[in-house]
Order: sequence, then C-alpha cells, then structure tokens
Amino acid sequence: MSADTSCVNSPRFHPRQSEEIGENIEQQVVAISRDNSAPRDGMWDMRMIGIADTLQLGNRDEEKGAYFNVKAMIANIKTENALYKACIEEGCKKKVVEGDNYGMSYRCEKCNKTSPKYKYITLLSAEVTDLSGTHWVTIFEESAQKLLGKSAAELGAMMENDKDSYYAAFETVRFKSFIFRIRSKMETYNDEQKIKWTVYDVRPVPWDQYIDALNKAIETATTL
Ligand SMILES: [Zn+2]
Repeated sequence: MSADTSCVNSPRFHPRQSEEIGENIEQQVVAISRDNSAPRDGMWDMRMIGIADTLQLGNRDEEKGAYFNVKAMIANIKTENALYKACIEEGCKKKVVEGDNYGMSYRCEKCNKTSPKYKYITLLSAEVTDLSGTHWVTIFEESAQKLLGKSAAELGAMMENDKDSYYAAFETVRFKSFIFRIRSKMETYNDEQKIKWTVYDVRPVPWDQYIDALNKAIETATTL
C-alpha cells in the first residue's frame, strides 16, 4: 500500500498545490483539536491494522472519522518533506509561498502578509506495521515531537545545518514499536476518495499491559 502523499512529496514546487495542502492541513488540525476523546494510558480501543483496514473504519462517519489504537512498529519514515515552511503568525500553519515574485520573502495567502521569516512545521509520513498488515500514516506536530523527541524548529535547524543529526533523529524510531492513536477518515484528493490515517497521539508500548491483553485475547479465543 502506498501513501497518499504524492502532492506533499512532489519535488516541484507548485503554489496552487501548496495552497490546497495548507488548507487541508488546517482542516485536519481543526478537526483534531475539536475531538474530545482525550488520549489515555493503558491498552484500550485496540485494533489490528489489517482488520481496521479491511473494515474500512471511518468510511461511514465522514464528518468525524473513526478513532482507534494500534500497537505498531515504524517500518518506514520519510525524511524528505518531513517539514514545511509555514507562516510565522501565531496560530497560522499555512504553508508560505516563496519564489521570485516575492524576492527572498515568504508570503502567507491566508494572512495576506509577506515576511522575511518562516517557521517550520513537522508533517511526517510513516509506514506502520503489525502482524496483520501495514498502513501509511500522517503524523502532525505534537505527535511528531513526541515520537522523535525534537521540535519542528530543532529538526529544521538540523536539516539546514547538520544533515547527519537530522537523519539520525529519524533512525532512532525506525523499527521501534509504539501505541498510535489513529483517526481513520475518508478524504478526497483530486476527486478520488481514499481512507486516510492520521496519528492523533503516540506513546510508548505499556509492555506488561500489552502482554496481559494478548493473554486475555488468547483465553477468549480458546474458549470459543
Ligand atoms: Zn498566515
């Protein structure tokens, strides 16, 4: 399965496309912050990736999507386009337009402002896997910081000045397992509908509780 990140990962800069990405990110951030199902500890609401995928969770509830947890390993994480340059206005996450038209400055179409500065925003694309399947997920700022232990500003500085450290930051999580809180939701890209998984929270695997939960599942299965 491939990630629906073709526009995010496009090597060619395209202002209109970036505008659409910016709007889409904003809608998602707003949708996430509106959800009141606060993350909590322990093993709860767990799903296997393959089953969640087969059931197409989030397919019906278009407005809100479906929320569940997976215990999964990061099989792949993209280092390219993991950050984007955004407007520096507080609360604005819109991708800035940069180019010849505006000299060396960065323009936010939403705030209608041009600035010599920008801020970095993290937008990770990772492939997560468990025994049942694999899925590409999008990981936004807060979860990305929890996962990598680095802020967008720190990652941005490393990307610009110290590529080795930048890549090393991603390597620390590759092939490691986490509990991911997923929002599965139907999205439309270029008139094509696709179920997209967004990471809403990430936390370490509570191994004791995980093993307990597995044992209980096996007990239930063997008594059927
Ligand atoms: Zn702005």
